[in-house]
Amino acid sequence: PFHALNVVAVEVRAGPGARILPLTGGLGDDLFEHDGQITKQAVRAMTLAALGPRRGELLWDIGAGSGSISIAWMLAHPSMRAIAVEGRGERAARLSRNACACGVPGLQVVQGHAPAALSGLPAPDAAFIGGGGGEPAVIEAALEALRSGGRLVANAVTLETEAELVRRHASLGGDLSRIELSRAAPVGSMTGWRPAMPVTQWRWVK
Ligand code: SAH
Repeated sequence: PFHALNVVAVEVRAGPGARILPLTGGLGDDLFEHDGQITKQAVRAMTLAALGPRRGELLWDIGAGSGSISIAWMLAHPSMRAIAVEGRGERAARLSRNACACGVPGLQVVQGHAPAALSGLPAPDAAFIGGGGGEPAVIEAALEALRSGGRLVANAVTLETEAELVRRHASLGGDLSRIELSRAAPVGSMTGWRPAMPVTQWRWVK
């Protein structure tokens, strides 16, 4: 007897309404529910590159907003862990929803104000400060908690927070960058560059 082996080619296609998440390069802003306070895709991609995720690492995302940084970190590999700290209740709830909608329900959410909300959390391999970086005690707490070899990345949009990052860079070193991005937009019937607010980024390795 001869049994023919039937090989069936299975085409996997996403159904209507499915969320399709790209593997690299930054997730689109529209994948996240947000209120405008979100690190935009290009800046998020640069921020993640600066954080340099490695397998199994723990991230503190301080001032997590929509959670886009934590979620992108968690999606890098199933072994990744992140704690998102957000002071505002409605944003903490929103970032939990975003984590579930993006398939990373394991994201730990702490609703509370840094630095107080950070006490007792397990030491991170990387820390991102996207909010609260203008308060010296927030950076201080992150620097203190970071494991040896850990990366700290802080972004500033306001002059006050930028001033704090400039001070830290002067005293501790690391890299200070300014990310300026313009996108083409209509100007009457023509097209011109519309600049986004510049983001100052400080990166430091412990
Ligand atoms: N990276 C985020 C955007 C951050 S916006 C994203 O991609 O969505 C900055 C956030 O920091 C705001 O939601 C604000 O409520 C929060 N924040 C500011 N200071 C804080 C503090 N000291 N502790 C906790 N959250 C803080």
